Amino acid sequence: MRHVTEVMTPSRLSWSSVSTYAECGQRWLLERGHKVPTATWFATIAGSVIHNITEERDRLQLMGFGPEEQIEFSSTFETGFVKALSEAAEEGREVKPSGRKLKEVSESGGPDKKDESWWLHFGPIFLDRWMTWKQEFGWEVLVLNDGTPCIELKFEIELGGEPIVGFIDRGYTGVAGITLLDLKTGTMPTGSLQLKTYDLGMKRNYGISADWGMFWTPGGGEGGGKLSQGVDLKAWSDDRVEEMYASAMRGIKAGVFLPHVTAMCRGCTVRDFCWAVAGERAEELPAIPVVIDRASGEISAPSADAQV
Ligand code: SF4
Repeated sequence: MRHVTEVMTPSRLSWSSVSTYAECGQRWLLERGHKVPTATWFATIAGSVIHNITEERDRLQLMGFGPEEQIEFSSTFETGFVKALSEAAEEGREVKPSGRKLKEVSESGGPDKKDESWWLHFGPIFLDRWMTWKQEFGWEVLVLNDGTPCIELKFEIELGGEPIVGFIDRGYTGVAGITLLDLKTGTMPTGSLQLKTYDLGMKRNYGISADWGMFWTPGGGEGGGKLSQGVDLKAWSDDRVEEMYASAMRGIKAGVFLPHVTAMCRGCTVRDFCWAVAGERAEELPAIPVVIDRASGEISAPSADAQV
């Protein structure tokens, strides 16, 4: 896979794109602008498999199938994970273990951190925790007027004048009102922009105003994983979220890609191309990125003044 030297502005943004840009502009530039070959993580692949299987099982449950029938009808973690790993291998992507190097295998890591065998062990356990959590909480899946359940519900809206696309993992109704939930298979997130973006997607595409946003993770809880504290979705003004997306696109169009060097750089999948950590392939890319505005086809950065 070859990287591209000219950077095209994205046709639409997502929460993860804005989040990457806010965390480290240079990483956004390398991953999504120059599209340099990136490694991936066993955790990322496993997380996607768990998402797919929980979605399938939740849909089957709504159709009236019990837990045993669901497992019989849907794919298992092992088959999905092995297939996804072989696809990554075909694409020539390196897959890395994350987590801690420990003497004994635990939920934090193991002798080879969270590698393939770690996920083959814990993946099915995490799936079971999701099913247990659902049963314990007993929340009803939110169903739209046309009968569509809020399971991986797609929305497409404009925020700050930019088109945004996203998928709401789950919407539930309960005593506290409507809750939008995002499943995480890694650490519990600290920010809530993702949940507020879901809220705006739900409001603008489906006319439903949610009350709370929450994250669920399989680790750190008793039996059924752990639920984050509720984020009051009405506490944030929509304008702030709009501006977050608009600012990100303004920065991209202006060619502003500041690196943010932290301890997290050790695990950055594009660090070989990052000049800020003296990546060994950084010189393959221009020092000043040329950004093309996708809509006009014109160069948006560097500015005309800077190009003279
Ligand atoms: S190595 Fe650090 S500074 Fe460089 S792109 Fe990655 S996260 Fe950003």
